[in-house]
Amino acid sequence: MRIAVLSDIHSNLEALDAVLARARAEDAERVYVLGDSVGYGADPAAVLERLSSLEDATLIAGNHDLAAVGRFDARWFNSVAAEAIVWTGEQLSGEARALLDELPSRTDGTDPLLVHGSVVDPVAEYVTNERIAGASFAAEAFDLCFFGHTHLPMMFTKRHDGGVRGEQLADATPVSLADGVARVMVNPGSVGQPRDGDPRASFLIWDTTAGSVTVLRVPYEIETAQAKIRDAGLPGVLADRLALGR
Ligand code: ZN
Repeated sequence: MRIAVLSDIHSNLEALDAVLARARAEDAERVYVLGDSVGYGADPAAVLERLSSLEDATLIAGNHDLAAVGRFDARWFNSVAAEAIVWTGEQLSGEARALLDELPSRTDGTDPLLVHGSVVDPVAEYVTNERIAGASFAAEAFDLCFFGHTHLPMMFTKRHDGGVRGEQLADATPVSLADGVARVMVNPGSVGQPRDGDPRASFLIWDTTAGSVTVLRVPYEIETAQAKIRDAGLPGVLADRLALGR
């Protein structure tokens, strides 16, 4: 089976639609969405509508999803993120709010385990290095964990006979999950606000038969997403950064 793993869509409908089209072209049968579906971008309602229409999708919440409906304290956000989250909350209908109200902040008892931040703190911790990943490997006995939050496509591998190693994941390059030899944590990067210097949308395909993951970078209409952000009166930096991938 081929499963599309998406994270950090951040209300970017143009990026989401480009990624979903690519996932279909890749014969993905299921979709995992690792949180922060809203926040920053101009289309929170349309993005949630699109996600709720997907068949066979598993959705969890990120810090922005929770903050939009008052389940996470936005005082931890910088001023740009906080301004965007107030605006986001105002755009949501009762149905959209109900969807966010019910999202779990992680999956329970599943392998793969799905979290937004880390296994230690599924909502808010950033897994950016081997030390932080090591704490997540120690916290629970999963073999495979998909996480998001950093907006960086990366994999952390903990071999059964050794320590934790982190690596960046390049476009269109299948990487073995080393099943039976190692435990892994994989981040698909961000659909709607990449931060690794490549402005193309990022997601991955997990091929359960081959035991591999492949990050795919997808071009989308960045100018359209930027224009919507500016027209909505959201902070201009949120539009500018999409073209930079930062
Ligand atoms: Zn995010």
